[in-house]
Amino acid sequence: MIIQPFHLSEDVSVETDVCIIGSGAGGSLVAARLAQNGYSVIILEEGPFVTREDLNQNERELLRRLYQQQASQATDDMSIRILQGRVFGGSPTINWMTCLRTPDHVLEEWIREFELEEYSPRSMSSHFDFVAKRMKVHTVPDEEHNPQNRLILDGARALGIHAEASQNNSEGCIGCGYCGIGCYYDAKQDMRLTFLKDALKGNTTVYTGVRAEQIRYFGSTEQAVVGVSLGHEYGVPSRSVRVSCKRVVVAGSAIGTPIVLQKSRLTKNRILGKFLHLHPVTIAVGRYDRLIDPSYGIPQSTWSEEYWNVNGEGYGFWVEVAPVQPILGGINMPGMGEERREIVRNLRRLGVMIVLVRDGADKKSSGEVKWIRGRKSIRYRLSPTDKKHLLMGLENAIEIQFAAGAKEVYTLHAQFTKLTSPDDIPKIRNLRNGPNELPLFSAHPTGTARMGGNSSYSVVGPTLEMHDYPGVYIMDGSVLPTAPGVNPMITILGVVSRGYELSDNLGL
Ligand SMILES: Cc1cc2nc3c(=O)[nH]c(=O)nc-3n(C[C@H](O)[C@H](O)[C@H](O)COP(=O)(O)OP(=O)(O)OC[C@H]3O[C@@H](n4cnc5c(N)ncnc54)[C@H](O)[C@@H]3O)c2cc1C
Repeated sequence: MIIQPFHLSEDVSVETDVCIIGSGAGGSLVAARLAQNGYSVIILEEGPFVTREDLNQNERELLRRLYQQQASQATDDMSIRILQGRVFGGSPTINWMTCLRTPDHVLEEWIREFELEEYSPRSMSSHFDFVAKRMKVHTVPDEEHNPQNRLILDGARALGIHAEASQNNSEGCIGCGYCGIGCYYDAKQDMRLTFLKDALKGNTTVYTGVRAEQIRYFGSTEQAVVGVSLGHEYGVPSRSVRVSCKRVVVAGSAIGTPIVLQKSRLTKNRILGKFLHLHPVTIAVGRYDRLIDPSYGIPQSTWSEEYWNVNGEGYGFWVEVAPVQPILGGINMPGMGEERREIVRNLRRLGVMIVLVRDGADKKSSGEVKWIRGRKSIRYRLSPTDKKHLLMGLENAIEIQFAAGAKEVYTLHAQFTKLTSPDDIPKIRNLRNGPNELPLFSAHPTGTARMGGNSSYSVVGPTLEMHDYPGVYIMDGSVLPTAPGVNPMITILGVVSRGYELSDNLGL
């Protein structure tokens, strides 16, 4: 059953076996497992309930409605814009569908450095298989790459570096390109159409438009979650929602989860909120003399991962493309005023390549999410090695653009920068590239409640139960011990699936 704020005529007090905070990737999968095993589940989801009729491809309306902070969430210093979903189904409802499994070298690092023998490549493979089957994950066939994705294949081939087709979770995709504001065609096999659907076949109720404010912890088998319906967003009065339960699963994402735990003062563990990883992104925009149409087609069907291991320890960068609809493009393109107007006017001839860095090469915490004085604070600094990888990646993306035939390439440096041939690349080495001098993006926050062998360096154990608060589980991107080095959705789902199995139905 789905309950929305306008269904609530009074305050609510209900009981259930498990209360899950957040209906995104992690929360949905665990809800489905619990429901299939006969447990009662209540999910509290801050964002709105949506069906395909709501996903009307109106970018102006949907960026506001489906994203955290209306798509303007950022670090405190505004140097990194962080995109996340705030909607039924979480970020997968608005994500770009790339489905890549955690590389073995990452899982092996978790065993070596975080005592996570239970997450070996061998133990994880059946969980990845299960997720892939349910979400209809498949390799995108060659004839379905749009011109923008083809730039990666063509450019990489011309440079003699590796690039290949990616995988995604779709069925019957017509390539409209609007995945980033939800799939109108129900082709994307996101949480709404997979794990939430499975959960709703059992004893599951989802309260949408309800933000969990606090977990009241009375002990490992008796807890309550107190939330509030966001009536003002629906033109109705707000109501309080209290859920008494035996177990709580926090799945509000690597930003939402530490916030709700800190608001609840479940903070014995000093690591909580720290080790935020972002896979920081910068952009190289190529202008072509032919139509590329970056707004259309399957958004991310290719990638080049030639430089995944720049430092010899599994840290480096990879290159993909980003779908660009007019509003998001208009906000984020290089230049100011006339320069930007000229670039956006050429939108149909642009190819937009993104460089994603596997951050954390220096093994230090450089990012933190905190609830301070009644507001969310997100701090993040690129370490010297991660920055080196980012700048190498930017040069690589520019080379790919020119090799694919770009006439000009623009970077996002605050000092407007247009390159007209690969010979110009050394010019960017002298540009200032500190915070806000080279704006960055992220859609991949992870790591703020990381998993590991004991509480001196981790927040949850292999079963994803909090070391310090038995009965409270964290099942989302915050538990990843390191950045996964590939787009994270499949890693998060695989880890939650494995953690749930190890927890033996959350010990119920
Ligand atoms: C634009 C975009 C494109 C992306 N593309 C890809 C891609 O192609 N491939 C890929 O692998 N990954 C992609 N990602 C990232 C991927 O979707 C996320 O890593 C993944 O969904 C994170 O899962 P999660 O369970 O941690 O959190 P989410 O899926 O973000 O879900 C968290 C949910 O919790 C809710 N919530 C938070 N706090 C509360 C609270 N206090 N009370 C109630 N509800 C709360 C939020 O509203 C949200 O719905 C993309 C992300 C974005 C934003």
